[in-house]
Amino acid sequence: MTSIATDRILASAQRGLRNDIRREFQIVGTQLRALMTRSANADGIIPRSRGPEVVRQAGVLVERMFVGANGKPFADDGVTAAAPYPRVLNKWYTVTVAMVATKHHEWMRRRVPKDVFATLAGARSKPMAVVTEADNPYIRRNGESIADHIARLGDLRIFSPNKLAEYDPMHLWVDPNGYRLSDRIWNTADDTRTAINKLIRDGIQQGWSAEKLAKTLEQFLDPSRAALRTKKPYGRDGSFDAMRLARTEIARAHAQASYMAALTNPYVEGIDWALSPSHPRTDICDSYATIGMGGGRIKEPYTLGAPKLPPAHPHCLCRVQPYVSATPKEITDKLRAIFQDPDFALYPLPVITPAQLDQFLLLLLGFGLYQLFKEETAA
Ligand SMILES: [Zn+2]
Repeated sequence: MTSIATDRILASAQRGLRNDIRREFQIVGTQLRALMTRSANADGIIPRSRGPEVVRQAGVLVERMFVGANGKPFADDGVTAAAPYPRVLNKWYTVTVAMVATKHHEWMRRRVPKDVFATLAGARSKPMAVVTEADNPYIRRNGESIADHIARLGDLRIFSPNKLAEYDPMHLWVDPNGYRLSDRIWNTADDTRTAINKLIRDGIQQGWSAEKLAKTLEQFLDPSRAALRTKKPYGRDGSFDAMRLARTEIARAHAQASYMAALTNPYVEGIDWALSPSHPRTDICDSYATIGMGGGRIKEPYTLGAPKLPPAHPHCLCRVQPYVSATPKEITDKLRAIFQDPDFALYPLPVITPAQLDQFLLLLLGFGLYQLFKEETAA
């Protein structure tokens, strides 16, 4: 067992995310149908003169899936969702982060010796058995300062301050184009509205019935419908951009949470980039991957100090796999050398690891989303 298996988490989050977004698009489809119906004359046709107003109202309906009345996806705290789409993203972001952290927590609880786990979980136990250097070569030597001892065992990373500074949460991450999540959602809303408006405008121009227009829109907005896509009258399907953004955000959340869990778990040594078994064709990912499509190793894992993390592109199906140390006994000895030191109380507090699940989650999610997660799981 050389990794902590979190890959299924991403697959199931992506499924749940897709269903939720599909449902939101269905609601918009129903609203658009009502708009088309009430804009038609008795003959069931929307007169061309009414076109601009119908397009305007449809634009508002579509936009409201992505942003609140003030035109923003999130409230002033930058996190509380102001519309259905950011609400769905928040939900699957918190679920994904929480499931990854929980998986690491469970792995540690099962694999790490009880006394070590208890201390990592926050217990400031009093020193245990007196050990000599013959029992454990990593104990603090005569005259060695606590700082020197910590430095000697630096690869444990448990006293490295500010590990959380490495974390780049979904809501704050600035993408290579300089956009934050709220900008990315706004751009997606704009693209979606443009595509839908084009369809409505053309339909009205061609004298389609309100019924035909409504039905075409419903199909256009259904992410599971490939039919319209193949005919390509309006390019891709109307839900394409929204789905692509959401999938990419959740893939990234999974990778970031896995990295943070790996970084703070002293038993993890590196990060693997695993190609998806359904990796469709050779792309940039093949040059990053350390684990191939068949699950075999291609190259050494990335070090935690300089990891490469998916997704490398939208729709990237690659996964992060924390690479667990092949010598866990050595890690345990090193941790015990610290935790059993008679002066352990004088050492700095160890970093928060997934062993302290709630605190770890609180740090990753922030208070608002942590509360949301608690409500979601209580429901
Ligand atoms: Zn990939």
